[in-house]
Amino acid sequence: MLAPYAVSDAESRGRRYPETAPRYRGEFQRDRDRIVHCSAFRRLEYKTQVFVNHEGDMFRTRLTHSIEVAQIGRSIARVLAINEDLVEAISLAHDLGHTPFGHAGQDALDSCMSGYGGFEHNLQSLRVVEELEQRYAEFSGLNLTFETREGILKHCTLQHASGLGELGERFLQRQHPSLEAQVANVADEIAYNNHDVDDGLRAGLITLEQLDEVELFREHHRQVRNRYPHLNGRRMVNEVVRRMINHLVIDLLEASQARLAEYAPEDVSAVRTTPAPLIGFSDEMKQKNRQLKRFLRDNMYRHYRVHRMTAKARRIIHALFHEFMGDPALLPGETQETVRQSEQAQGEHGRARAVADYIAGMTDRFAISEYERIFNPHSS
Ligand code: MG
Repeated sequence: MLAPYAVSDAESRGRRYPETAPRYRGEFQRDRDRIVHCSAFRRLEYKTQVFVNHEGDMFRTRLTHSIEVAQIGRSIARVLAINEDLVEAISLAHDLGHTPFGHAGQDALDSCMSGYGGFEHNLQSLRVVEELEQRYAEFSGLNLTFETREGILKHCTLQHASGLGELGERFLQRQHPSLEAQVANVADEIAYNNHDVDDGLRAGLITLEQLDEVELFREHHRQVRNRYPHLNGRRMVNEVVRRMINHLVIDLLEASQARLAEYAPEDVSAVRTTPAPLIGFSDEMKQKNRQLKRFLRDNMYRHYRVHRMTAKARRIIHALFHEFMGDPALLPGETQETVRQSEQAQGEHGRARAVADYIAGMTDRFAISEYERIFNPHSS
């Protein structure tokens, strides 16, 4: 059933701690199942990308985002006859390391950690599945397959890569990851660009008139207007967005199929050394997609209402970090112990890393209430 260039159970590079093969599941199904059952996955429900969680129940959370990525990724994988279970596992895990308050939180924590090796959410997702989850008697982390962990690590600086062993190799050798990882990566982009359009309209941060500047939106907006002249409001927006997603997915499939036919990789290792990644949009769609991203950056992510939220988020993260770093006795008992052990092993760097892990694991609302408990004299 799988194409020769797909990742298969039989050719997996395996798990760090060897385990017997699952009886009624595949290896990547097992990875997916472990991800769904882990506590960092449940917390995605109360973490956001652009909007802070309590801003409204209508917006995407990182949990629904991850499910959308998995849906788009699996549809693509099935058509290309590559490993759907692996795409699903990577998609569901890709944001596990995200801090509260989306990108603002990540940037704030990175700046707090600048003297201690920095903070990067991709690396943190890996850290969650390799170390931080404590669920199994025999190992820390989830002991996922190499292929799932490789897919989670979407980007990485060369400096970090050199400390990552086999997972860092591809960055140092400038190779590509599996097709499954490439699919999860593009599915992520399709999902967030489209739901940011949808959520941005709902929040009143952007308007239809503004969006008509964007070619991809305009063409589908016109089609829908022509075909359903009486349709308006949310239903019209939903119809446009679903057409955009469909258009992007079909373009991606056709362009990727053409590249797969051209390069005809014999196996997974041939996929790694092609001149450019095989999974991707056509040149025309790349252009349109870039225009959409630019629009969102200029009009939505830099909108003053978003900026107010991110400025608040930054203050909360900085304040929590510096307070806990200066006085770890303010931390809850179990976390204090983790910080103490980490400091014993790696000194001040260890202390900072454990504090960053604690903050990164917080949901938006937990970070806000923790801030209240520490800084508000009327709070207990
Ligand atoms: Mg994502």
